[in-house]
Amino acid sequence: MAFDIRPAASHFVNGQPVEDEAGTPIPVICPVTGDEIARVHAATPAVIEDALASAEAAQKDWAAMMPRERGAVLKRAAAIIRERNRELSVLESRDTGKPLSETLVADATSGADALDFFGGLAATLTGEHIPLGGDWAYTIREPLGVCVGIGAWNYPTQIACWKAAPALACGNAMVFKPSETTPLGALKLAEILVEAGAPPGLFNVVQGAGEVGAALIADARVAKVSLTGSVPTGKRVYAAAAAGMKHVTMELGGKSPILVFDDADVENAVTGAILGNFYSSGQICSNGTRVFVQSGIKERFLERLAERLESGVVMGDPLDEATNYGPMVSERQMEIVLGYIEKGREEGARLIAGGGRVDRPGFFVAPTVFADVTDDMTIAREEIFGPVLSVLDFEDEADAVARANATEFGLAAGVYTSDLARGHRVVAALRAGTCWINAYNLTPVEMPFGGVKSSGVGRENGRAAIEHYSQLKSVYVAMGASDAPF
Ligand code: NDP
Repeated sequence: MAFDIRPAASHFVNGQPVEDEAGTPIPVICPVTGDEIARVHAATPAVIEDALASAEAAQKDWAAMMPRERGAVLKRAAAIIRERNRELSVLESRDTGKPLSETLVADATSGADALDFFGGLAATLTGEHIPLGGDWAYTIREPLGVCVGIGAWNYPTQIACWKAAPALACGNAMVFKPSETTPLGALKLAEILVEAGAPPGLFNVVQGAGEVGAALIADARVAKVSLTGSVPTGKRVYAAAAAGMKHVTMELGGKSPILVFDDADVENAVTGAILGNFYSSGQICSNGTRVFVQSGIKERFLERLAERLESGVVMGDPLDEATNYGPMVSERQMEIVLGYIEKGREEGARLIAGGGRVDRPGFFVAPTVFADVTDDMTIAREEIFGPVLSVLDFEDEADAVARANATEFGLAAGVYTSDLARGHRVVAALRAGTCWINAYNLTPVEMPFGGVKSSGVGRENGRAAIEHYSQLKSVYVAMGASDAPF
């Protein structure tokens, strides 16, 4: 594809690309070849200051606009993203290594869905009238002010849109820091928002590693922090936000269970396990990496899973649309995943498929399945964030639910069964923020998404996200004279 994916500059501040080469260089490495495809610089204190100052200035005028007009800007941005989906998808594929067959349908498009959805909601955000006998009260739904978004590297464009869309719809401004591993997609979003009519400064992007994020959170002008990242980072960011009593949304990691009962449609359950473990080469927070399979269905499940991996996985150039499986985002992530595969072997899990690096350039790890995994094994306890599926055995529903819940995480869960009463009973008992019955990893923007326990705080998507980007002012209105005891 003949267009230059190198950004005009490292940052996008106050409506334009901004460079400051004094910042630490950040090479952008293509995970498929290992080559440097672009280079940005971390934000210097001067860039961070300009980003925050311009966001603060832009927010006031933006919040004063007719909400319908704010919504129209977001909807125009959604339309531009859809028009340029192919170009944006190629960029996302180069930045993350994910195949174009995925990025064309799951990245910029899902960002556009968020901009459309929250653009539509913008004009509907109101307070309420509260009758109090003769007196009455009303509430005003107000924006928070300047919000900071901090992204992970697996869905760079989607994450930027999922945070920007509700924030801007509610009348906030945002300064967004992408993961230093994947800095490109958010810059495109910033350009597109300006093209769609967003005022300069409303959505700024600054590059850098954790310390740039930390500097943003510490600033007194920032009212809210929304992070997508790992649990350890979440704990640090939450604590830093608490020091300034700021609002937070934490979209963190998981070790989610999928429960496959004997009465499940095997083919459908295998599809769910594949989607929930190998899409984006396993680099998805909500992945169902602990697949509990009831004993009566286990051997057929394993057989079909191995067959479908054997015949269906196509690795190769991510820009070739026949490719359906990409590399790990970075060499570092590949090493982490290979370390976990080694642990699985050492601790006695039975390897059914994959089991190591693929002999080709780039950071490819074969889709890996372990059977006979027990609850105490490292691969069943820790988030791997790679293509490693663990199959655990179970006999009894209550036992499976208890084991599924026995983790610090609570992001997501899935149930495969043909008994609908059981499906609903089991999801009611699972401690997870997002559950699927006879499906896995579908995250339409209409449905709130987020975790419980260590997997996070707050919700993205759905009307629920509005609660996390706005606050209520209550106004008591006395219709008569005030009354005091003395
Ligand atoms: P990290 O937690 O390593 O980083 C997340 C972001 O936080 C990055 O931009 C990082 O910067 C930044 N950061 C790191 N330290 C600090 C700090 N002290 N203050 C402010 N910002 C900081 O996550 P990864 O990027 O490795 O992403 C993978 C993780 O994200 C997995 O655990 C996954 O489960 C989770 N995730 C959760 C999702 C959800 O919606 N629940 C969705 C997708 C991923 P940098 O890395 O550039 O240094």
